Amino acid sequence: MLLRADNHRLFMYNGPERGNGVVAELPKTADVVVIGGGCTGASVAYHLARMGAKVALIEKNALASGSTGHAAGLITQQFATEMHVRLAKESLAFFEDLAGEKSLGLKFHQHGYVHLLFASAELEEARRQVALQRRLGVDSQILSAAAVRDLVPSLRVEDVLGAMYCARDGYTDPHLATTIFADLAKEHGAAVVQWTEVTAVEAAKGRVMGVRTDGGRVLAPVVVDAAGPWAALVAETAGIDLPVRPFRRMLWFTRPFDRVPDNAPVLFDTHHDFYFRREGEGLLMCLGNPGEPSNFDTTLDWSFAPQVAEYATYRFPPFEEAALVSGWAAPRDITPDHEPVLGEVPGLEGFVAAAGHSGHGFMLSPAIGRAIAQLILLRRSSIDIGPLSIERFRGRELPIDTYRPIGT
Ligand SMILES: Cc1cc2nc3c(=O)[nH]c(=O)nc-3n(C[C@H](O)[C@H](O)[C@H](O)COP(=O)(O)OP(=O)(O)OC[C@H]3O[C@@H](n4cnc5c(N)ncnc54)[C@H](O)[C@@H]3O)c2cc1C
Repeated sequence: MLLRADNHRLFMYNGPERGNGVVAELPKTADVVVIGGGCTGASVAYHLARMGAKVALIEKNALASGSTGHAAGLITQQFATEMHVRLAKESLAFFEDLAGEKSLGLKFHQHGYVHLLFASAELEEARRQVALQRRLGVDSQILSAAAVRDLVPSLRVEDVLGAMYCARDGYTDPHLATTIFADLAKEHGAAVVQWTEVTAVEAAKGRVMGVRTDGGRVLAPVVVDAAGPWAALVAETAGIDLPVRPFRRMLWFTRPFDRVPDNAPVLFDTHHDFYFRREGEGLLMCLGNPGEPSNFDTTLDWSFAPQVAEYATYRFPPFEEAALVSGWAAPRDITPDHEPVLGEVPGLEGFVAAAGHSGHGFMLSPAIGRAIAQLILLRRSSIDIGPLSIERFRGRELPIDTYRPIGT
């Protein structure tokens, strides 16, 4: 594979004046302040507003400028627990609905999603997961290595035992989806305030009082920390130690390349934390960069590109003719168990965490947004997200090396 170091940034289409442009005024009061205009915050704000709450969504930059706008947009329902499968299934249906509303312009490429399996123990575990997924109404299946090769001709499968696959999974545009969530929130009366930074969460006598921003104060009894990789910094202003740390993730784009068909599924190789999918006329790909320290670095490290090219060409020999021409890097919000921290944080009434999505925050954002809104307004959610409370870390030592990024 050729490498060309002309690293120009690509920007995703933002829809006709969608999301940006109109900057709402900061309200003086709200029922709920949501901090962070990524997919999580925008989804929480939408669901809260739809349920009748007075919501202020506050974003320090533009909507989707954090992890979300840099995500690959992969969407799968192939999870290992009932809670995850239910969150994923509800989210996928939500994305389908958005894509079905043609005027919104969101394309959901449902060409399927292949998880390669290499060891017999993995195949056994995948069989268990597929049984669970199918019981919950997800039409996933186990494929033989030969069947995977039929889906992606020329893929190297000699070392592959099979794959877990769901034809309805796929990918969409996280930036556009988020601006749609925000537009929907606005339609239900939410104030979506961009270019305004929350500088502190204010609290007194163990209760949240609101937030201080660089544009003034907002009084509110409930504050949702949906600040993605920055969530721990926001929480710290309220004296809370949130176990969420930023780790850089890099995506790479090839020049136009037609050896992978337009309707090829997402190909995910968890052993090597490697995936690729179509992006326009070329491909988008990712190879994990383990061992990096936690940081907010957004530099695309071209010295890593030869490793990407080498593994990509091993897995899919026709990549020999491709060239990596651009890409980007952004932080993901990682927790020690790769699961988000969701719900009210004990010790500070009204402080709700919705961060630490660790690589699958976009695909689950519709359902997580709804569950958080239900927890705030109804005290219970239709999908029980209790196992994702911060309580699970209580009494555990969490040194930085317990945060090890994997996955999307
Ligand atoms: C390269 C890459 C690829 C990925 N691929 C996928 C994928 O294919 N599928 C998937 O599901 N997930 C993927 N992810 C993960 C996914 O992007 C995240 O889990 C998800 O976007 C998290 O969304 P969020 O809204 O919680 O955080 P963010 O999108 O980071 O949003 C947080 C927002 O808070 C704002 N903010 C921070 N501090 C403040 C403050 N003090 N005041 C006001 N605003 C503040 C930030 O500006 C930011 O916009 C990927 C991530 C990366 C980096």
